[in-house]
This record gives sequence, C-alpha cells and structure tokens, in this order.
Amino acid sequence: MDLIFECALFILGLVFGSFLNVCISRIPRDLSIITPGSQCPTCGASIRWHDNIPVLSWVLLRGRCRDCRDRVSLRYPAVELLTATLFTACYVWFGPTWLTVKFCIFSFLLVGLLFMDAETGLLPREFTYPGIVLGLAFSLIAPAASSGTQFFLHAYGAHLSTAQVSLVDSAIGALAGAGFFFAASGLYLLIRKRQGMGTGDFALIAMSGAFLGLTLTLLVIFLAPVIATVYALIRMARHGSHAGNAKTSLGEMLQSWEVPFGVFISASSLAAVFFGGAVWQWYLSFF
Ligand SMILES: [Zn+2]
Repeated sequence: MDLIFECALFILGLVFGSFLNVCISRIPRDLSIITPGSQCPTCGASIRWHDNIPVLSWVLLRGRCRDCRDRVSLRYPAVELLTATLFTACYVWFGPTWLTVKFCIFSFLLVGLLFMDAETGLLPREFTYPGIVLGLAFSLIAPAASSGTQFFLHAYGAHLSTAQVSLVDSAIGALAGAGFFFAASGLYLLIRKRQGMGTGDFALIAMSGAFLGLTLTLLVIFLAPVIATVYALIRMARHGSHAGNAKTSLGEMLQSWEVPFGVFISASSLAAVFFGGAVWQWYLSFF
C-alpha cells in the first residue's frame, strides 16, 4: 500500500515540478503562468504535449528543442526530479498524515524559490506571501514538533490547546527568522555600507519559520550562513587558482560577490524538514 502512495506522489511530484518550471521561467519576468502554453524560449515554437512529458521528453530529445535543436536547460528535468523525490520523501518520513501534505507544499515553494533566486536573484512575493499564510494555516492541523515553545508557554501557565500552541510557535518562528536576518542585515549595512539582504530574503525566512516552527527555524538561521560561507570559500579558492592571485581576501570576495542568499535559506529549510528533528535530538543528547 505504501509503495502505491510513494509511486503516486513521485508522479504527482513530476507533474508539479513541470508546473514549477513554468513558474520559475515566467514569474520573475512578470509573465502569465497560464497563457500561452509551453514555448521554446529560443524559437518560440509551441511545445507538443508529447514533448512536454516530465523528464522523459527531455531525455528522448537529448535535451534539445525539436524545432530549432537549441539546448533545453538541464534545470527542467532537474526541478522535476527534485520535486518528485521530495514529495516521495515527505510520504516516507511522515506517512499518511497532514504533515506530508504540508511539507509537500513547503518543498514545492522552496524548490521554486531556490531556482528563481539562483537564476534571477529574485524571490517573488507570489510565492513567499501565500507561503507565510499557508505555513500559519497548516500549523493548526499539522503541528511541527516544537517542544521549546510548548515548554515556555506551559511554564508561564498558559492553558492553550495543541493547535493554539502550534500556531503561536509558527508565528514566533516566522518573526524570529525574519527578525534575526533583518537585524543581521542592518548591522551589515552599518559596517559595510552595503545592502546585504533584501525584502525577498526576509519574506522567505518568515515563510520557512511559519512552516517549521521556532526550533527548526533556529537550525536554518544557523545553517544558511554556514553553507553560504563554505560556498564563498570554494568559489574564492577556484577563483584564486584560476587567476593565480592568492591576494583576494575573503572579505573582498564577500564584498564583490552578489550573494543569492535565498538559495541557501531554501536549501537549509529543506534539510531542516527531513533532518532537523534528528539534529536537535543529537544536540540535546549532550545535556
Ligand atoms: Zn526551439
């Protein structure tokens, strides 16, 4: 029975991934996601339905447009496979519960935002704002395990139902995430006189906070800058070896580098969904 659900979610993920590709290509350019139908970005030819089957068509056409033979980005099958894998993983992790539905929606939004930020540097509010609302709404029927808030509320004698605690936790997660990065960005502006993060980043971390609740959001706040720094160091090492110039300091690198920080927030949030609970348990086992 589980296998049937897993296969169904994989196929559903492919279909949603295919739709996500349309969103990624069009929303940052303010184009309609409904009309016209799928077109080749190079020659503008309409894509036939049988050339529009997720992953399969891309493989059969060897990553080229049937009409003009121009390359079709690897992003198309990658987004489809990633979405399908994440949908299936949600079911494997959370079983036939509302958590699976909640985290499938969250994964869909995160994959979309990750690729939009990577390609255009934009985190469209068409995704983040409804995401915040959905995160808060789903906290009522699918609480993220956040013992911290529960403990705190009970310690202060608040008599709230599980759903109410979960909603408070979701709201605190959103505010804490956005608040932390807003403060960090303000500090950066004061020191470096440059804008480090934008409104899109704050909306994205607020969305993650609403879906994840406070405890897992703390992991994202910690993890995202770590991955971003590792990425910057790798880029710096490669840049240095190519140019034969070892003088480029990390500071200069970070200063000249336009950080697609939304990519790292999205990736960290996905990691938190599946491994956040285990990481917290491991961390708390030291106390
Ligand atoms: Zn074409």
